[in-house]
Amino acid sequence: MPPALVNLAYLIAAVCFILAFKGLAHPRTAVRGNLTGAFGMLLAIVVTLLDKHILSFTAIFAGMLVGGAIGALVATRVKMTSMPEMVALLNGFGGGASVLVAGGALVVPHAVSDAPPLQMAVATVTSGLIGAVTFFGSLVAFTKLADFRWAKDVRFKGQQVLNSVLFLLALLIATQVVRDPSALEWYWGLVAVAAVLGVLLVIPIGGANMPIVICLLNSYSGLAAAATGFVLNNNGLIIAGSLVGASGIILTQIMCKAMNQSMTDVVFGAAAVGGGASADEVYGGKVKSTSPDEVAMILDGARRVVIVPGYGLAVSQAQHAVRDLANLLESKGVDVEYGIHPVAGRMPGHMNVLLAEANIPYEQVKEMDEVNPSLPQTDVAIVIGANDVVNPVAREPGNPIAGMPILDVDKARTCVVIKRSLSPGFAGIPNPLFAADNTLMLFGDGKKALLDLVAAVKAQ
Ligand code: NDP
Repeated sequence: MPPALVNLAYLIAAVCFILAFKGLAHPRTAVRGNLTGAFGMLLAIVVTLLDKHILSFTAIFAGMLVGGAIGALVATRVKMTSMPEMVALLNGFGGGASVLVAGGALVVPHAVSDAPPLQMAVATVTSGLIGAVTFFGSLVAFTKLADFRWAKDVRFKGQQVLNSVLFLLALLIATQVVRDPSALEWYWGLVAVAAVLGVLLVIPIGGANMPIVICLLNSYSGLAAAATGFVLNNNGLIIAGSLVGASGIILTQIMCKAMNQSMTDVVFGAAAVGGGASADEVYGGKVKSTSPDEVAMILDGARRVVIVPGYGLAVSQAQHAVRDLANLLESKGVDVEYGIHPVAGRMPGHMNVLLAEANIPYEQVKEMDEVNPSLPQTDVAIVIGANDVVNPVAREPGNPIAGMPILDVDKARTCVVIKRSLSPGFAGIPNPLFAADNTLMLFGDGKKALLDLVAAVKAQ
C-alpha cells in the first residue's frame, strides 16, 4: 500500500478515536462513540495488516481466534461488579503485549520495523520498562479489587528508597540495551526489574485510592503502546497509545481532584493511612434500624428525595427496583433526583452505567457538586449500598478517606441507608452516618429491600 494512503487511513482512525472519546463523555452518545472507536480500530488493524511485512498470517489469525474466544468467553461471563477487575487485567495485558512486541522486535529487528536503530532501541526499552510496570502493577491492582482484604496499603521502611534504586537500576540496564540491542538478556533483566517496581509501586496504594491507580495504570498501558508504536514505526499505534496515555492522565487528575488527593502523594504511596475510631466506638448502641413500612410513612410526607447509589446497588442489581421506586414517588408528586459520587462503585462511571441500564432519565442524575447544595433542603436521602462516598469521617484528618469530598446525605432531614449489615465499604472503616440521629438503617439486600419498600409505598 502507498505510504500516503496508509497514513491517511491512520489519520481517519485517529479522528474516529477522538470522536469516540467525545461520544463516550455522555450516556446519550456513548454507544455511538463506542462504535466509532471500534470502527477506527478496525480500520487501523486492516491497514496495518495490508501495509506491514507480515511474517505469518497463520500465526496472527490463530492468535486472534484463541485470544478472541477467551476474551468473548470472559466478557460474557464476567459479572457487572467484577468489571473493574477485568479492566485492571486488560490494562495489564496491554502492558504485557507491549513488552513482548518490543522484545520480539529485538530478536528480528529488520523484519518487523523500518525504524532507525536508535529510535527503535530507545522505544524498545521504554516499552519494556513501562509495559512491565503496567503488567505487574495491574496484577496487584486486580488482586486488591478482587478481594478487598488485600486492598489495604502495604508499606515498609525504605520503600521509596528501594523504588528509587530500582528505577535507577532500570535506567542503567536500559542504557546497556540501547548500546547493544542484540544482548537480549539485558532486555529481560530490565523487564524483571520493572516487574518488581510495578509491584512495589502499587502495593502501598490502597483503600479509597484504588480508582486513581486504575486510571494511572490505564494511562501507563497507553504510553507503553505508544512506545511500541515507535518500535514498529507505526503511526496508528503511536496515535492510539498517546490518546490512551493522555486521557488516562486526565482521568487520573479528575479522580485525584474528586478524592482531594495530590497525584504525587498517591503515586508514591504518601496518601493518608490508618487511624480512625473502631466500629464499637462509632456504633455502640446508637444505630436505629427501620422497616419498609416506616420508611414508606416517612416518604409519604416527603416533597424532595435524593437517591444515592453505591457499590451495593451493583451487587444486588437493584437498578430496576430503584427506578420503580422513583417512578412511584414521582407519581405522588415527589421531586426525585440521584446523587452520583465520582468514585461510587468500583469503576469510573459505574453508577451512571447502571442507572442508564434501567432507563433512568439523565436529567435526574446529578453529579456530587450539583446535588450537594440541595441536600440540606431534602426531606429524605435514600442511600443504597453506598458507604465510603457518604462517610462523614472524610471531613476529619488522619483516616484513609480524609479530605475526600462526600455526598452530604447527613445534612438531609432524614437519611435512610439500605445495606445488609454494618460492614465497612472498600476503605475498610466504620461510618458514623449509620449512627447519626437522623439516620435510619433499612437492613437487607438492596434489591429485596427496595421491592419491599415499593410494595409498602403502594399499600399507603
Ligand atoms: P463501598 O465499597 O464504600 O460500600 C459498599 C457497601 O455496599 C458495603 O458497605 C456493603 O455493605 C454494601 N453492599 C454490598 N452488597 C450489598 C447488597 N447486596 N445489598 C445492599 N448493600 C450491599 O461503596 P461506595 O460505592 O460507597 O464507594 C466506593 C469505594 O470503592 C470507594 O472507597 C472507592 O474509592 C472504591 N473504589 C472505587 C473505584 C471506582 O473507580 N469507582 C475503583 C476501585 C475502588 P453490606 O456488606 O453491609 O451490605
